Amino acid sequence: MSAVRIDGKAMALAIREEIAAKVAGLKARGVTPGLAVILVGDDPASEIYVRNKGIACEKAGMHSETIRLPQETTQRQLEAEIDRLNRDPAIDGILVQLPLPRHLDERAALSAILPEKDVDGFHPVNAGRLLAGEPTVVPCTPKGAMRLIRSTGVETDGKEAVVVGRSNIVGKPMALLLLQAGCTVTVCHSRTRDLGAVTRRADILVSAVGKAGVIRGDMVKPGAVVIDVGINRVEGKVTGDAAFDEVSEVAGWLTPVPGGVGPMTIAMLLENTLEAAEKRL
Ligand code: NDP
Repeated sequence: MSAVRIDGKAMALAIREEIAAKVAGLKARGVTPGLAVILVGDDPASEIYVRNKGIACEKAGMHSETIRLPQETTQRQLEAEIDRLNRDPAIDGILVQLPLPRHLDERAALSAILPEKDVDGFHPVNAGRLLAGEPTVVPCTPKGAMRLIRSTGVETDGKEAVVVGRSNIVGKPMALLLLQAGCTVTVCHSRTRDLGAVTRRADILVSAVGKAGVIRGDMVKPGAVVIDVGINRVEGKVTGDAAFDEVSEVAGWLTPVPGGVGPMTIAMLLENTLEAAEKRL
């Protein structure tokens, strides 16, 4: 068996075209959606992510601002910048690029963003709404991963779903979305005993670990939908968490890395920014 490759890149492109058309419509009504990204320090990977987000925004016709703050920025200075953007009527979405330098308090920074401008969906108010099943801003990566799952046409209701990883930005919100979609959800992490025994039960398996090869072929149920969120650099190449060739032999559907979840994350960021601007209108 060879898994169907889920083409996140193509799907993201189509979504971005739809968003660009909606942005043009909003602009005609006098509103240009605006996204501000705050980057503290000079982490090279973050620099690339931030640049890509800015380019994606501009291609969609949105207003984009990148605020670069030096490594030695204090918490007070960071929050003052967030406060300025909270009050800026040209900005619909504020994103603080993670990880922040270690001397800064990530939770306090994310909580300083107005919930309605929190296009990453990390503010405790938005996270709480997701937990309660209320309409909210859904974090971009799990939101994109759900779209990829839906694109397979596989019914989620009543299925076994396993999420590997329990971070606030990927694993936990992913588990909540799958729960909302009617799955029986198990969340695994570094303390899970016999990971393979759990993942082999999954009709839908989402891996968000950040370790190349943590998901092997013999850990996957035949025919499963496998969504690989992981981004790892191995000998200069970007790979996911799944041992791609092995997992391809067993799974029914599989996202590639790169070209799977990554492009969808950016498309969902644009969608969340557009929705914030529509609410402003
Ligand atoms: P974190 O490091 O915050 O979380 C990783 C999770 O994996 C933790 O819950 C950890 O468990 C768990 N874990 C670590 N080792 C194992 C193991 N051997 N077996 C089972 N679980 C394990 O990472 P993020 O959630 O921020 O990101 C996860 C991955 O997704 C990274 O590679 C990141 O680069 C990528 N990513 C990709 C995005 C995209 O757009 N494609 C966007 C965001 C992230 P514990 O909690 O016990 O430590």
